[in-house]
Amino acid sequence: MSASPRSPRTVDPVRNASTSPDAMIQLHGVVKSFSNAAGEFTVLKGVDLTIKRGEFVSIVGKSGSGKSTLLNMVTGIDHPSDGLVVVNGTDIYTGVTESQRSKWRGKNLGIVFQFFQLLPMLTLLENVMLPMDYVDMYDFDERPKRAMELLTLVGLDKFANKLPVLVSTGQQQLAAIARAMACDPPLLVADEPTGNLDTKSSDTIIGLFQHFVEQGKTIVMVTHDPSLTSRTDRNIILSDGELINETLAKSLPQLRHRHMLEFTKLVEERTYQPHETIISRDEHVEYFFMIRQGEVEVVLQDKKKNESVVSRLSDGEFFGEMELLRNGKSIANVRAGSKPVEVLALPRADFVRVMNESPITAEAVAKIVQKRLEAHRIPDYRAADR
Ligand code: ADP
Ligand code: MG
Repeated sequence: MSASPRSPRTVDPVRNASTSPDAMIQLHGVVKSFSNAAGEFTVLKGVDLTIKRGEFVSIVGKSGSGKSTLLNMVTGIDHPSDGLVVVNGTDIYTGVTESQRSKWRGKNLGIVFQFFQLLPMLTLLENVMLPMDYVDMYDFDERPKRAMELLTLVGLDKFANKLPVLVSTGQQQLAAIARAMACDPPLLVADEPTGNLDTKSSDTIIGLFQHFVEQGKTIVMVTHDPSLTSRTDRNIILSDGELINETLAKSLPQLRHRHMLEFTKLVEERTYQPHETIISRDEHVEYFFMIRQGEVEVVLQDKKKNESVVSRLSDGEFFGEMELLRNGKSIANVRAGSKPVEVLALPRADFVRVMNESPITAEAVAKIVQKRLEAHRIPDYRAADR
């Protein structure tokens, strides 16, 4: 980043201790409100989010939950009402003019929309060259070659001199992606890039995104399509302008977003040291636990007090449910593995209430419990123990 007064200022890591060098995007307390005839309403309600360099992240959420608004905060297309947005080391709103932000955007990020927004009077090649002209990147004579390479990468070299209307919608989106990557930005932001496409074209586009991620790019993609979220490294859910705890969403994917959001506000984060007891046998279990990071051991004791580890659970798995669902005491000890483990603890009463309200989740949890019982023949143990 040049230090000229015309470029957006780079965040001073000393003044901004929370800025980490391996983060591509950092949002701190981002609020966005709009006012209309009915008054003011808040679309983003204090979003905190860090996306690391090289991550491929999908963002999902119901229509109107604030996904596009969130992306617009990252791209600088719109501006937050409150909070801090740091992208690629730059605080993009503090003391930065609209035109500085626009130049910054041209060099730092590529943007892809649902409706491609190619200029209709320009050929695909000319469309891809536009951003290079805008930020004055690459020698003038080099631009066609560079644009052609990108079109070749997305499989459109044969159509380079055609106008957008003469190719399919899938091909128009591929050209829009080539245009977004024209200045080789480290970050690609895409708002429902496959929303208007058939399955085959969507598939091609996700494959292309995966290719860019392998090259070290960071990609943030809003999508409606649940089949695409399994192909990203990380999935973020937005519900009514708030982010859902990612561990929770991973552990209980069947929950309704409104329940996930409710739980997000109720969970307590805890860390247990290596081998520290989390649940003791014969004690009432007061929490449902979800593992954020690390491993726990489920340990049974026979009559002679010989211990055996019957299962090990890790990230995105849960425990404490067998007892909670049965309203009883623990049949096993659960303890941290050989490294510290971070868990989310949800109070028992809240867990039970939502299981009653969400039969699909209750059924899914029951299935996992059944599988574990069978896998470890825990009933045998219990029988022997009585
Ligand atoms: P999503 O992309 O998740 O469907 P949006 O971020 O587009 O949701 O919109 C979230 C809410 O903010 C909606 O209720 C929408 O009507 C409102 N909204 C978005 N942009 C504006 C705007 N420029 N002015 C007023 N309201 C807006
Ligand atoms: Mg949207």
